[in-house]
Amino acid sequence: MTAKTTCPYCGVGCGVKVTIADDPSKGFTSLEGDDSHPANLGKLCVKGSNLVATLVQEDRLLQPKIHGKDVLWQDAADHIAEKITQTIAQYGPDSFAFYLSGQILTEDYYVANKFAKGFLGTANVDTNSRLCMASAVVGYKRAFGSDTVPCSYEDLELCDLLIMIGSNAAWTHPILFQRIAAAKAKRPNMKVVVIDPRKTATCDIADLHLAIAPGSDAAIFNFLLLESQRHQILDTHYIKQHTKGFANALWAAQKHQPNRAEVAKFCDVAETDLAQLSQWWCDTPKTVSFYSQGINQSSSGVDKCNAIINCHLATGRIGKEGAGPFSITGQPNAMGGREVGGLANQLAAHMDFATPGAIETVQRFWQAPNMATENGLKAIDMFQAIESGKIKVVWIMSTNPLVSLPDTEQVRRALEKCELVIVSDCKVHTDTTAYADVLLPALPWSEKDGTVTNSERRISRQRGLLPPLGQAMPDWWAICQVAQKMGYRAGFSYRSVDQIFREHAALSGFENNGKRDFDISYFNQISADEYETLAPIQWPVTPTRPKGTARMFEDGKFFTKDGKASFIPIYPEKPVAQTTHEFPFILNTGRVRDQWHTMTRTGDAAILVKHISEPYLEIHPEDAAKLNVQDNSVVEVSSALQSLKLRAKVSDQVRPQNLFAPIHWTRQFASQSIVSSLIPQACDVLSGQPESKHAIVNVKAV
Ligand code: SF4
Repeated sequence: MTAKTTCPYCGVGCGVKVTIADDPSKGFTSLEGDDSHPANLGKLCVKGSNLVATLVQEDRLLQPKIHGKDVLWQDAADHIAEKITQTIAQYGPDSFAFYLSGQILTEDYYVANKFAKGFLGTANVDTNSRLCMASAVVGYKRAFGSDTVPCSYEDLELCDLLIMIGSNAAWTHPILFQRIAAAKAKRPNMKVVVIDPRKTATCDIADLHLAIAPGSDAAIFNFLLLESQRHQILDTHYIKQHTKGFANALWAAQKHQPNRAEVAKFCDVAETDLAQLSQWWCDTPKTVSFYSQGINQSSSGVDKCNAIINCHLATGRIGKEGAGPFSITGQPNAMGGREVGGLANQLAAHMDFATPGAIETVQRFWQAPNMATENGLKAIDMFQAIESGKIKVVWIMSTNPLVSLPDTEQVRRALEKCELVIVSDCKVHTDTTAYADVLLPALPWSEKDGTVTNSERRISRQRGLLPPLGQAMPDWWAICQVAQKMGYRAGFSYRSVDQIFREHAALSGFENNGKRDFDISYFNQISADEYETLAPIQWPVTPTRPKGTARMFEDGKFFTKDGKASFIPIYPEKPVAQTTHEFPFILNTGRVRDQWHTMTRTGDAAILVKHISEPYLEIHPEDAAKLNVQDNSVVEVSSALQSLKLRAKVSDQVRPQNLFAPIHWTRQFASQSIVSSLIPQACDVLSGQPESKHAIVNVKAV
């Protein structure tokens, strides 16, 4: 039998077609790209093509465990429910927290969010998506009044100028990169500009690469705003009719780097390159700005997003084919999490706690007895509160914060101190499960069932195609067991995943009347069969837009009170930590082509380890020569937090005094190699997103 599902390895959200063996316990007999899925049209990258090899074969968690001993689900649920009840009675609702993941499905997210925010009374619901796109969310909300990605993937092919900022899409979003490369090959006049301190594989198709000083991106877009005025390409009608705050944004841009020479100095790039960028920007109405973690993972990530959006608003390059500011998420379901309110500073269905009337609306819909009334703690603050003892029970789902969060030693201290650590995972052994008091067997890809939303707002089914192994159960089911034990039977008696999706869809339309962007109320009566066969579709999906919505803001109306988008004045700032005599290098971090997150799954596939088999540190030849570091030799890299050993890769792809290390590995050379352990917990104050791309360190030959 053949079936369709969605790849779980990045925010592109490619469709996958599988053939299931006659005996489904034997798994899949073939896997290929789904040519009917609009995201990938049949193509898959190396991670997607090797999905079968990444299915967890060994070390699968098949039974709940309490302190390492196998127990029944009912015992585990009793234990958790009792501890949460006691803890909340003694210390209040905020003594509990969920730490979720962009890997879990929208329905799981929905139930977790409802349980915590409506029934326990805490908004301590955060996620590893905080590390991925939180700055983009705040940037969109400041500008549009809503967390709305305006574009579609086809805009990447329809534009005449694509500016890729802080993204190595060739490795991190390979199918999108292939689509872009194919469009450029077909229309060689299409220009691609890459703005990135590193010369990555993405630069292979670039007409211009600006290897800017790390963190200086906002100045480039302030410059383009000024250039738009100088060259008279402002869309004055659009600015007047559909926006507010333009004069202040322009004034801010003028104040800091008023001319090209100042910008070139701040960003450490050639004036001629800026002139070229300006010319293409001014000459090309169909421009897409494509940005990712290089923008978001910054102490001023939100400002960088708004600097980009300002330029698009000023020139009316939004809500049109081949134009717009397009944030690309890293994780397969970072978007779905946002939709249900799976961030501590969101309520539900793209409503915030501060949205007038929203708390009451959601309370009415959920019939919730204990509504949270204010923002909870974002990821970094959450783990600090665990360490300080304010949070006593944490439930971690499908993520490995002991490798992925910055300052992992702090995370270890926090989990050691926490009174009850519950971890839902499909593996017995990860860095984080080692600290679990209760381990709950979760379903992996191919067994779990629900929906995900990709970077272009497209909801796709990730289907449960193989029979669950052992006692593994869906995350939403596990939450319901605990909720029911706590007496919340009415709100948590779902019998199937489609029932949760219907409720989620109904909430998105509840008392909405076009006030909010996220609306899939068209599905509030979807039957189980229709859900089963649901084809990929871009939200909003409403009775007036039953086929979904490819592009947002075509009418120039935004989700602010007056319907106008806001310009935000941007004062470009350098990253928090600047190099010192003791720590003279800047460490940038990121992903490699064939690995995913902390390698808990892709690390088990021999074919994916072949590409790059061990962690490394890219160092510029000039620095290597000064330090007497040979290519392939082992070096010690140290920050104020930690030291670790990595293999040196001498490369002119990094700037002098800049280093790059991938984030995936945990152990090497008989010691830990967790690169995040070097990174301090500096965050953007607005988004709470850590500055994972900028730590100051030292290096020495070993
Ligand atoms: Fe999967 Fe992303 Fe590769 Fe598509 S591009 S196959 S979603 S990892």
